[in-house]
Amino acid sequence: MSYYFRVSAGEVTSRFTTDLASVENTVQLTMLPAIKNFVMVIFGLVILFALEWKLALFSLIGLYFSYKAGERVEEPAFSADARAKDQQSEINAVLQETVHAQPVLKIFRLQNMVMERFKHQIVAFFRTTARATYLSYLTEQVPNQSIELFGLLTIGAGAFLTFYGYLSIGELVAFQFLLSELIGAVQEFTWSVPHLIRAAGGMNRIQQFLDEKPEVIDAEDALSLDRPSREIVFQDVTFGYNPARTNLNQVSFTIPVSRSVLLVGPSGCGKSTVLSLLMRFYDPKSGAVMMDGRDLRQVRQDSLRRHMSVVLQENFLFNTTIRENIRLGKQDATDEEVEAAAKAAQIHDIIMKLPDGYDMVVGERGGRLSGGQRQRLAIARALIADPPILLLDEATSALDPATADSINQVLEKVALGRTVISVTHRLEAAPRADSILVFQEGRLIESGRHEELLKMGGLYAQLWHKQSGFVLHDSGNRAEIEPGRLRHIPVLSGLDEESLKSVAELFVTERYPEGRLIVHEGDPGDRFYIIVRGRVRVTRKDAAGTEQQLAVLEDGDFFGEIALVRNVPRTATIQTLSDCIFLSLAGEHFLRLLLKNEDIREVIEETLTERLGSQATILEKTGTGNN
Ligand code: ATP
Repeated sequence: MSYYFRVSAGEVTSRFTTDLASVENTVQLTMLPAIKNFVMVIFGLVILFALEWKLALFSLIGLYFSYKAGERVEEPAFSADARAKDQQSEINAVLQETVHAQPVLKIFRLQNMVMERFKHQIVAFFRTTARATYLSYLTEQVPNQSIELFGLLTIGAGAFLTFYGYLSIGELVAFQFLLSELIGAVQEFTWSVPHLIRAAGGMNRIQQFLDEKPEVIDAEDALSLDRPSREIVFQDVTFGYNPARTNLNQVSFTIPVSRSVLLVGPSGCGKSTVLSLLMRFYDPKSGAVMMDGRDLRQVRQDSLRRHMSVVLQENFLFNTTIRENIRLGKQDATDEEVEAAAKAAQIHDIIMKLPDGYDMVVGERGGRLSGGQRQRLAIARALIADPPILLLDEATSALDPATADSINQVLEKVALGRTVISVTHRLEAAPRADSILVFQEGRLIESGRHEELLKMGGLYAQLWHKQSGFVLHDSGNRAEIEPGRLRHIPVLSGLDEESLKSVAELFVTERYPEGRLIVHEGDPGDRFYIIVRGRVRVTRKDAAGTEQQLAVLEDGDFFGEIALVRNVPRTATIQTLSDCIFLSLAGEHFLRLLLKNEDIREVIEETLTERLGSQATILEKTGTGNN
């Protein structure tokens, strides 16, 4: 798995296209002539030695120096060719990414930027290729020209020997004829050198790919795992994707079978990593993941994965029919089983209304289906094998609230009788879960049922309160905030219920798709936002002008609070990471309320003086609002 995270798809495919083609070309075009010419050179030399050994020795020395001269340019030619191949695979990777990123490129008007970047890559590739071609031309020409020169010298020496009677004219003619045949064979042989260099470079890269060893392999004495009947255990598990970082730190928990468990916690705390270890995509650095008392390192991977299915936030669908996509979950499933799984995922009726029904081809990555349909199809695929363990990783978080609610209902139904481990940042289902595991920075910090965790008043309680107090109407097109919820926003914390009600009424709903820029660093701050649903990324430019991620905010978080009362530019850039629903409040509307309502204004000024130590600014801004 880590290889595929490290290396782009374009780089992998170029091993199978350009690299393999260069090896294939060489084998087809040059191998047989190269063997023939090599044999001719050996025979030619033997006969030359038989005819006149001194001249033959002189030719052999000539051959040796020509070979040595060629060798001097081979190394730079080889490196230039390797660099050109790397650049070509980078170009392949960019091409693939660009094809997939078309909607994002168009929405953000990035075509020119991408074209410009691509042009630079092409120009760099052109330069490297020109150099590599020139150097490989030299690898052919340097030995060729040197051997021609030595050929001339040898014939000159032969003529000299003949003149003084050491050699007959017949011998000289025979020697000259054989030598020119031999030079011809050597030159034909050197013609293959550039091809061999390109092939060797390609083979090298293919070899690197073949040399990659899977990190997770079945032990020789690995056993088959039976259907789990007792529990899943994480025992002191410590894990890091790379040696420099620990992403899970001494995590221990037990999940009895047929229970539903939620993994919650802030973004990046390690929830999905727990699922990856459970599926044995990776092995822990220390500790053990166990099922029914058996360490997963001692069981066969296929027997483990037979007992589990997974539904992710983005599920990969293959560009084939709906039927085949569902059948991937159980390859020998009958059509009846496919339909039963579709019915359980509540997508059967939708499929029946599609033009080709179950035989409709879904398009690349399921592009011909809606997000909700793709998700239901993924659920059907996960259910068809009737797995005792169902893993859900943010299975509904990319969907709009209405679709997410209906898919959550489907998931709750299919969860019955199974062990369901669900990673989620939305806590709606938490009160019904058998157990909740709360993670923070790779550690399990709280666990228990919803009420117990609320009583503890720790991180879970904070997350729960953060997400409470919102009401969604019209499939998420309209959101409301309960006045009491506004008390959690520091600048409004001092207001009474009545004043909070007036403020709550000023909020408007805004919906944005993934990838939209909401706030740009340096722009005037004029709006305050609360995230009702979704995730945003907060970034700021560092001294070198590179965008640095500061945080990921999600449901219940807010930003731009200061814009309500101060005319200060935005200190960070905020961009949506998923479809988002915000409640926003314009600074201007808030200030009008303050102007109309002396009581609210006094409380806000007091809060501000306490928090920011300034009363003048709010008055200043109030004046601006008034204008
Ligand atoms: P989120 O809610 O945002 O999905 P999470 O709690 O599921 O987050 P993980 O996906 O488990 O978090 O990631 C935990 C940490 O491991 C993060 O810091 C993340 O950057 C890092 N990480 C995740 N996958 C990889 C990977 N394949 N290689 C290297 N680091 C990774």
